[in-house]
Amino acid sequence: MATILEASRTIDVVHETDVLVVGSGPGGLSAALAAARAGAKTTLLERYGCFGGNITQVGVEGFAWYRREGTVDCEGIGPELERRAHEMGATSPEPQSTSSALDAEMFKYVADQLVAEAGIHPMLHRTAVMPIVVDGAIRGVYTESKAGREAILAKRVIDATGDADLAYRAGAPTVMTPREKMMSVSVMFSMSGVDKRGFIEAVHADPQTYGDWSGNHEWDYETSGKEDHLFSPFLRKPFAQAVEAGLIPEDLKTIAGTWGTMSDTGELTYLNLVHIQGLDGTNPDDLTRGEIDGRAQAIHAMNALRHYMGGCEKAKLRNFGMTLGIRDTRKIDAVYNITETDVREQGRFDDAIGIFPEFIDGYGVLILPTTGRYWHVPYRALVPKRVGNLLVAGRAIGGDLISHASARNMMCCAVGGQGAGVAAAISIRRDEALDRVNIGALQDELVRQGARIR
Ligand SMILES: Cc1cc2nc3c(=O)[nH]c(=O)nc-3n(C[C@H](O)[C@H](O)[C@H](O)COP(=O)(O)OP(=O)(O)OC[C@H]3O[C@@H](n4cnc5c(N)ncnc54)[C@H](O)[C@@H]3O)c2cc1C
Repeated sequence: MATILEASRTIDVVHETDVLVVGSGPGGLSAALAAARAGAKTTLLERYGCFGGNITQVGVEGFAWYRREGTVDCEGIGPELERRAHEMGATSPEPQSTSSALDAEMFKYVADQLVAEAGIHPMLHRTAVMPIVVDGAIRGVYTESKAGREAILAKRVIDATGDADLAYRAGAPTVMTPREKMMSVSVMFSMSGVDKRGFIEAVHADPQTYGDWSGNHEWDYETSGKEDHLFSPFLRKPFAQAVEAGLIPEDLKTIAGTWGTMSDTGELTYLNLVHIQGLDGTNPDDLTRGEIDGRAQAIHAMNALRHYMGGCEKAKLRNFGMTLGIRDTRKIDAVYNITETDVREQGRFDDAIGIFPEFIDGYGVLILPTTGRYWHVPYRALVPKRVGNLLVAGRAIGGDLISHASARNMMCCAVGGQGAGVAAAISIRRDEALDRVNIGALQDELVRQGARIR
């Protein structure tokens, strides 16, 4: 590959803060709220024009679709996001659980309000492109935006980019799932003009279960058995019929998945039906292909629904997610990496920053938390090796393949985010390094903020 030398230049420092959170998904938004509420001057930096990450940018509305009568759930900022959205009219009943689905569009406004109320300094439309690292510790980031290149300095940085972009570029060790095993990427979409009565009648006429997920290459799932008979808002038959009728191409047998909410006004949202394998979410050429192929597949999926799903005959596209949905890229090799055994066998840790139910969804495993079992989220999984002043929040925390299928879920990202935000604030207040932060002080503040740590 040809190379070119970029000239060095002097960059304006446009902002200085205590805690800089980069990325505003469930991990970053929770981290920023927690740091600010723990008394730190906090800034939330986001490359797009709204906070919320996958919720608002991709349209992932199923915030707690795992929750059943028997679930022992986390407490703290995660459930607060759901509650607050509900109070602001930004939720709908979620069809398979006792939770509320978030309204991806309205949640943009909910997040704005939460950020403002906590006194967080908002910085949208800036992409963090490089960490500023001095003597092995991160001191801030360089950003790119319409204003060109700028620098932001901070005492502590929380990498909540989802892809561990900053940790990776700062020299912390990271791991990536091999491409052939990576979770698929998805173009999410919603439809309008659906006849609710016809749609719900069709769902009731042929109710689907989690047991129905298995049956083709994309959706072969191991369960614990107790999931198999439970209702799932799952759709595969309309697409199989469309392939058989020659309406959509044969190679689109991969189209299948779940619908999210069906409104009285005819909107069928959070259509998680398009799954493309083998794409690396840190490679912009793969992302380009995923966006274009994904949109084409979504159009085929809609066509199939119009022909073969009750209520969808006159439906139209309401929107695509504003960006492709990425499930699986880099994770840090953390001071402690969460294991499959931890998430399957109720891992317990002295440095717990929260709990998360025994919910595993990914890499061909589906376990729903129907029995009250849960695991502790350990603080050390947020702490990268080799780089000081840096924590990671969200789906890029340290852990093996199957632990990721649990920890990647948005509510768990919020648990880790709250822990990261509080740890960053406490470590400044007590003048302690992040890998030596006083766990008692961290847990006391988390409990004060309403988190459940045991
Ligand atoms: C299609 C799909 C369906 C899913 N369904 C569910 C579900 O039903 N329930 C569930 O719990 N989970 C689901 N997930 C998983 C879940 O959405 C993610 O694991 C979770 O959102 C990760 O949270 P995060 O905070 O780590 O990252 P994200 O939500 O990805 O947020 C990262 C944020 O960082 C910003 N960012 C990235 N890089 C930079 C940068 N360099 N500078 C500035 N900002 C940056 C991004 O714009 C984004 O706002 C789904 C995921 C996908 C893709």
